[in-house]
Amino acid sequence: MRIASCTVQATPVAPGIAIGRVMLMHGTAPAVKNTVITPDQVPGELEKLHNALELTRKQLQDLRETLRKRLNDSEAGIFDAHLLLVDDKTMVSEVERGITEELFDAESSVYHAIDKFVALFSTVEDVYLQERVIDIRDVGLRLAGNISDAVPMPLAYDEPRIVIASTLTPSETVGMNRDKVLGFAVETGSTTSHTAILARSLKLPAVVGMPKELLDSLTVADKLIVDGFSGKVIVNPDAGTEEAYRLKLREAEKFYQQLSGESDLQAVTTDGFTIVIAGNVDAAEDYEEARQHGAHGIGLFRTEFLFMDSSHLPDEDEQFEIYKKMMITAGNDPVTIRTMDIGGDKMSSGIIRSVEQNPFLGLRGIRLCLRERRDLFDTQLRALMRAGVHGNMQIMLPMVSCMDELLETKEIIENLKKELSARGVPFADSIPLGVMIETPAAAMTADRFAREADFFSIGSNDLIQYTIASDRGNERVAHLYRPGHPAVLRLIKFTVEEAVKQNIPVAVCGQIAEDLPMIPLLVGLGVNELSMSSSAMPLVKRLIRSLSMHECCELVTRAFQCDNYAEVVMMSREMIGRNAPELLDIQGEI
Ligand code: PEP
Ligand code: MG
Repeated sequence: MRIASCTVQATPVAPGIAIGRVMLMHGTAPAVKNTVITPDQVPGELEKLHNALELTRKQLQDLRETLRKRLNDSEAGIFDAHLLLVDDKTMVSEVERGITEELFDAESSVYHAIDKFVALFSTVEDVYLQERVIDIRDVGLRLAGNISDAVPMPLAYDEPRIVIASTLTPSETVGMNRDKVLGFAVETGSTTSHTAILARSLKLPAVVGMPKELLDSLTVADKLIVDGFSGKVIVNPDAGTEEAYRLKLREAEKFYQQLSGESDLQAVTTDGFTIVIAGNVDAAEDYEEARQHGAHGIGLFRTEFLFMDSSHLPDEDEQFEIYKKMMITAGNDPVTIRTMDIGGDKMSSGIIRSVEQNPFLGLRGIRLCLRERRDLFDTQLRALMRAGVHGNMQIMLPMVSCMDELLETKEIIENLKKELSARGVPFADSIPLGVMIETPAAAMTADRFAREADFFSIGSNDLIQYTIASDRGNERVAHLYRPGHPAVLRLIKFTVEEAVKQNIPVAVCGQIAEDLPMIPLLVGLGVNELSMSSSAMPLVKRLIRSLSMHECCELVTRAFQCDNYAEVVMMSREMIGRNAPELLDIQGEI
C-alpha cells in the first residue's frame, strides 16, 4: 500500500534530481546475538574469527580497488580506514576477550564489541569521531556476516531506485550497483559524512535529515522525488508534479551538457573584467577535474583534513610528499595552501589538548598553532617551504584576528629558513603569505593587514557566522546566517578597498563564491578571484560572462541602501533573471 502524498524538507548534500520508487536498505542493524559456548569450543571460535578477519580484509581490499577504478584515491581511502579497523588490536582483542573470557561465540562477541565501541564513540563530542561510528558498524557487521556465513539478500529490484535508509555505510554506498541507484534519502549524516562525499563523487542526488517516521512508513511501492538542489523530497507525487520534475531533470541534463562545452572560456564580464576561478581542492587527484571545469589554480587546500583523516599525525616528510604532489600536479598554476585550521567544528583528538566551552571562539586555526602546537606548526611550515620549490605556492593563515599573529608567523618562517639553510635542505625562499579574512576583527583592520600580507582570501563561511553571531552549523539560527547581510557586505567592501590601496589581490574561498545571488555582488565589490568546488564552476562562469562590471557596481550601490538581506537577494536574482535566466531555472524550486 502506498502512503499519502506529502512533501518534506530535508538537507541537500549532493545536487541533482532523482525520481523513482523506493529501495529499502534494511538489515543494517540485526539483533545482537548472545550465543554461549563451552570452554572446549573456544579454539574453534577463535579460528572462525581469524578466518573471517582474513576474508573481511580481502573483501575490503577488493572494494577499495573497485572504487579506485570508478572514482579516485581520496574516496578509495575510506576503505583504508576500514582496513585499519580490521587490524585494530583493541577491537580484535575485545572480540577475543568475549570468546575466551565471557564464553560467547565469535559472532556474538563481534556484536558485543561493536556495541561497546559505538557507545564509546557516540558520547565523544567530536564530529569526526562520531562519524567513525558508521565505519565501526560497517566493518563489524561485515565481519559478523563473514563468521555466520550469512549471504546478503540480493537486491532484486527490476528498475533503478532511490535508496532510503536510516544510515548508509560507505561500503553499502559503494557496493551498490550504480545502474540500480538513482539517489539517496537518508536520515542521519551531514555534508561531511562519507555517504555525502561518495554520493557527490558518484554524481547521485542525495539528501540527509529525512524524518524517521516517514522512512519507517515507506515501502517499495512508494515513489519519491528527491531534489538534491533544494532538499525537497516529495512522496507519491501527483502526475503534474512528477511531470514538472521530469522536465526539470531533462533540462538540467541538457544544460550541464551544454555548459561542459564552455569549460575553456574564461570568466570575463561583458565589459572585459576577468575574475579568476580557482578550485577548493583537498587532494592532488581532484585538481584534474577542477582544471577541466576551467579552474586556474587552487584557491583553498584545507590541510587540516590531513591531520584528521589519518590514524597518526603526518610527519614533515609525509607532508612534504603530499604538498609536492599537489605542486607538481598543478604545474605553474598557483596553489594556495592553508595551514591547518583545527578547532571549531574540526576537532582532532590527537591535536587538541583540552575541551573548550565554546570551540568556535576558542583556540582554533592560527591561535592553536601559535599558542599550543608550535611543534606541529613548525613541522608543517618546513614541509611547505620545502615543497614550495616544486611550483607556484602561496601559504594562507586561517582564523587570524590580530596583526601579532601574522607578524609572529613571519618571524617563525624566517627562523625556519635559517634552520633549513643550516641543514642544507632546499626550500622556496619567497612564498607569498596571505591572510584569511574570516573574523570581523581582521576585516576591520584590513588596512593594517594589507601592508604586511601578500594577499587576502575571504573565508565567508566564518566571516558570516562571526559577524552575525550565528553558528554556521546550528539549524536554529540558520535564518539569521545571511551572506548578503549589510554588515557582511560592508566588511567585504572595506577589505577590498584596503587591499586595492596596497595593490594586493582579494579572493573569496567560502561557500558564497558559488552562491549565484552573491556573485554579482562580489564582482561589483571588486573581488579578484572566486575559489569553489569543481561542480559549481560551469554555472558560475556562465553567470559572470553574462554580467557587466558596470551593472554589478550599480547593484552594490543599491544593496548598500537596503535594510535587509531578502531585498538584496531579490535585486540580485532579478539581475540574474535578466541576464542569464537559464541559471535560475536550473537551480530553482518547482
Ligand atoms: C571559510 O570560513 O569560509 C572557509 C573557507 O574556511 P572553512 O569553511 O574551512 O572554515
Ligand atoms: Mg573558515
